[in-house]
Amino acid sequence: MLNSLLSSIKRWRKPAPQPKARIIPRSEHSISRRDISRAALTVMKRLQEAGFEAYIVGGGVRDLLLGGHPKDFDIATDATPEDAKQLFRGSRIVGRRFRILHARIGREVIEVTTFRGHHSNGAEHEAQQSQQGMLLRDNVYGDLASDAARRDFTVNALYYTTRGFAIHDYTGGVTDIEQRQIRMIGDPATRYKEDPVRMLRALRFAAKLDFSIEEHTATPLANLAPLLRNVAPARLFDEVLKLLMGGFGERTFELLRQYQLWPQLFPDNAALLEEPAMLELARLALRNTDARIRADKHVTPAFLFAALLWPGVVVEQRRLMDQGTPAVPALAQAAQKATSSQLAHTALPKRFSLPMREIWDMQLRLPRRNGERAQRLSQHPRFRAAYDFLLLREQCGEIQPGLGTWWTDFQQADEDQRQEMVRRLQQRGGRRRRRPKAAG
Ligand code: ATP
Ligand code: MG
Repeated sequence: MLNSLLSSIKRWRKPAPQPKARIIPRSEHSISRRDISRAALTVMKRLQEAGFEAYIVGGGVRDLLLGGHPKDFDIATDATPEDAKQLFRGSRIVGRRFRILHARIGREVIEVTTFRGHHSNGAEHEAQQSQQGMLLRDNVYGDLASDAARRDFTVNALYYTTRGFAIHDYTGGVTDIEQRQIRMIGDPATRYKEDPVRMLRALRFAAKLDFSIEEHTATPLANLAPLLRNVAPARLFDEVLKLLMGGFGERTFELLRQYQLWPQLFPDNAALLEEPAMLELARLALRNTDARIRADKHVTPAFLFAALLWPGVVVEQRRLMDQGTPAVPALAQAAQKATSSQLAHTALPKRFSLPMREIWDMQLRLPRRNGERAQRLSQHPRFRAAYDFLLLREQCGEIQPGLGTWWTDFQQADEDQRQEMVRRLQQRGGRRRRRPKAAG
């Protein structure tokens, strides 16, 4: 009796548990001010001089600890977006779900986010949730500890400040970096329901960092994957670009398939893509893109989407041709169908879908090289991409090799040799005229 009275008094007097930060001092970590962009340092300094807290958080700290080069530096602060805006001329507040400040320093834009808080205490008007538990708005402000709890993965919730040069770790991120694993902060299923894109982010970071996905973080993925259908197509498109065009596309692709998220992104194509030649085509296209990114060469989603959506185009074109539609209109109709059905899942802006369709369209034109055709085709703005695509189709075994080599030779030939190549073709063609076949 007395005991329980005492313990209830103790409980009553005990303050609400505050998550404690592990503070890692300068002498015990590898981050130095020199690794940080001047713009990020300026933003941090200006906020601090105005009396606010300011930390680098997210990929900046994570990638520096791993010895890499961060893409960018994001800053977290206790200043509201409005307060912070006063400090940076030409800055803008963006976003609705999350209001953040884009602070412009020279040519660099630094994202400044205000510490997020917990969703209690009658903050309903600043936070909003859908029936599936998805966060529609999240503008409740808080302190450093609550901000850490609202980030996605422990490795993304490390804070570095030039005040004392220490790292503040509330969630065990440093240990998870050492153990090379992606671990969700809080209850993984709840956090995925709040924002299904976190499922994609888990795989993106696992692929990029070559980390494993901690067991509890991985378990709900397959079950919750269908929630991705509730995400706006434009946001999914942005995310797909980060997944596939971040330099680790092939590895990410394999993880997306392994964890059954891929069919949610490309529902009309996922099953057909498992056909061995088509799977190989996708892998080759991704490997190609990864290599080009590493070599600092130009890459375009048009080429990648051309490969990823191709299986559906081929099947539909064949179906239409079986019904008597000629090859060219059959391909055009199949292309139209594949494009418009994908738009409902991930957006695909016209500036990418038009060149993608030209790449497909040229698959029927590349075999037709008579007269001036070859010369003209080789000058088409999409020739190079279409030729690369043809090579991949031959390499993956979707079509017989041969045509690709002809075009390789043609590009290396001089004027006379080119005419000779076409002439030889015409001689052969005169003997057996062919009608255009399906692109497949
Ligand atoms: P990178 O920029 O290298 O792709 P990043 O970790 O910086 O990786 P960003 O998308 O730039 O990722 O986001 C910055 C930080 O914001 C993340 O590290 C994470 O702490 C937080 N964050 C971003 N998206 C979410 C999300 N959907 N849910 C919770 N926290 C998020
Ligand atoms: Mg970032």
